[in-house]
Amino acid sequence: MRVLIRTDSVFTGVEEEGIADSRSILVENGSIIKLMDNFEEDPSVDKVIDARGFFVMPGLIDLHVHLSATAGANLARSLVEKTEYGAIRAYKYAYKSLMAGFTTLRDLGSNGYQIVALKEAILDDIVKGPRVIAAGRPITETGGHADTPFSNGRVSDGEVEVRKAVREQIKQGADVIKIHVSGGGTSPHDDPSEPQFSVGEIENIVEESHSKFRKVAAHAQSNAGIRNAATAKVDTIEHALFMDDEACSLIRNNNLTIVPTMVSPLMTSKYGKDAGVPEWAVRKATEALDPHSSSVRLARKHKLKIGFGTDAGTPFNLHGNNGKEFECLVDLGGLTPEEALYSATGIAGDALGPKYRVGKIAPGYDADIIFVEGSPMDDIGVMTRPERIKQVLVRGAEMK
Ligand SMILES: [Zn+2]
Repeated sequence: MRVLIRTDSVFTGVEEEGIADSRSILVENGSIIKLMDNFEEDPSVDKVIDARGFFVMPGLIDLHVHLSATAGANLARSLVEKTEYGAIRAYKYAYKSLMAGFTTLRDLGSNGYQIVALKEAILDDIVKGPRVIAAGRPITETGGHADTPFSNGRVSDGEVEVRKAVREQIKQGADVIKIHVSGGGTSPHDDPSEPQFSVGEIENIVEESHSKFRKVAAHAQSNAGIRNAATAKVDTIEHALFMDDEACSLIRNNNLTIVPTMVSPLMTSKYGKDAGVPEWAVRKATEALDPHSSSVRLARKHKLKIGFGTDAGTPFNLHGNNGKEFECLVDLGGLTPEEALYSATGIAGDALGPKYRVGKIAPGYDADIIFVEGSPMDDIGVMTRPERIKQVLVRGAEMK
């Protein structure tokens, strides 16, 4: 199946290239073959898709979502419903995100394996959805960020047991390993500024995961946790709340990516109190706002790779509104609109590793492409409005 996409120009997602003055993109069996600076009728092409008049860019990647979470105020809801029910609801969330232009979602932890099942159902073409990369259950120490009945993390302690926890996730079909190396906002008895897991434990997790070709994503809010995770060479530092120059240097020297998720504490802080989110969770979210902004600004100064993530599913951080993070990165984090677009395309795709050919409109990459009405380079606010995403292609197939 050969598809030709007719364009005015293309935001490639490749940082060195920026916007290519390309008039068409040739796609064969779901993969991008080449960008061409002309458009010619070609009898060997099965279909021509006209994208003229739109801002054409790679499908968006959200490196940090929780499709099992409802974005409601009641953190303990999962205790009174079946995980199987959660799987069906997660399908709806994934589809909503897809319609908003997110063609790849990395699910960083659920209370069971329902998102692994969703991923498989999408791959088997049982339901239409984005590419899902699932972590299964997050790995956490006793009393750690996911050691709550509603998070149901895989609690493990010690260098031997953490390896077993990794192997269990892989056995259940996890594509990526999620760990918690600091406290967080939605756990009652820990503090975002404390570290969790020792460097030795994290190193064992990383070695075990990498030996089985899985990346490691570390929930790391505290400065100590960030440093421990960076020292142990995890792949992505999630949230990266309390950064300083030294942490930035460690991250840069080890060539890691940070994933800030700025929209998450903003939403909890803004709407949580009136809706009945626990007082401690609202307080921790509110206290996170300033350090989060200054940490992203510092990371940018240090030229760190900033990948796009939302933590969608946390209170009032709705699936399908993932685009709000673009505005946060620009308005609060000081990124240019162009930098924000790279964070959700080329940079995020690279962070997933070579197994996934996503995030760039370049030869050999999957033809995950979106057509946006209006230019996000001029007004990043365009990306916060799902109705501006006029077409979504996954591996060259039209989803809208
Ligand atoms: Zn999260």
